[in-house]
Amino acid sequence: MKNLLLIFSFLVLTGSAFSQTSSKAYSVQAVNYFQTAAEVKALQIQAYNFAKVSLDFALITQPVTKPFAIIVDIDETLLDNSPYQARQILSGESYPKGWKEWVEEAIAIPIPGAVEFLNYADEKHVTIFYVSNRKIADIPATMKNLTSVGFPQVLESQMVFREKESSKEPRRKKIGENYSITLLIGDNLADFSDIFDGKSVSDRDQAVEKLKSEFGSRFIMLPNSLYGDWESALYQWNNAATEDEKSEFRLKALKK
Ligand SMILES: [Mg+2]
Repeated sequence: MKNLLLIFSFLVLTGSAFSQTSSKAYSVQAVNYFQTAAEVKALQIQAYNFAKVSLDFALITQPVTKPFAIIVDIDETLLDNSPYQARQILSGESYPKGWKEWVEEAIAIPIPGAVEFLNYADEKHVTIFYVSNRKIADIPATMKNLTSVGFPQVLESQMVFREKESSKEPRRKKIGENYSITLLIGDNLADFSDIFDGKSVSDRDQAVEKLKSEFGSRFIMLPNSLYGDWESALYQWNNAATEDEKSEFRLKALKK
């Protein structure tokens, strides 16, 4: 009996150690790809090169009914928070632990191409709205970070952060009342349209298909292997899923 108990506890321990190792390995690869793959840097630069072409085209072709504006997301669109993710892996903690402290440090480096592009838009007198799901309380530290790396128009009136709901649609609509929104830039599909909000993996796929002419023109998409609605959709929006359940979802999603 004692032996059986010993074997049983050994199995439980090695089982949970395995799931922790596999979830860690999963996150390490995501951070490695984001931080070291020059392909990610190339995609980011490509996105901002496209943004410039699209902006130039819009300025020439769009009728001027209202002042032009650009909507930009912040995290993984303008600022690189991957060191926060790396810290989480090394400390064994998970979001939101340590996030507030990371934001307060205001040391995130810019995403390649972002500072140059937004300064170009600024020269063209286009208004920039920083539409982020960071909290209102994070505005001062975020402004400090954005300013320190050279972003333009870092004004409190242009920081449109999350108050109640995470959907950005009401905030986009409000901006659209007074401005002509020429471009939206983000790393998450929900940065562009509420058609993507809270959708399943296959519904997201179909929505991209439906809006395919927008990508590279009005919608500028950046890569994010670290986190995003793509991952929530993979876990069927089950926020309470354990590491083991998440691992199951990931394995089940593999197409063979
Ligand atoms: Mg983002």
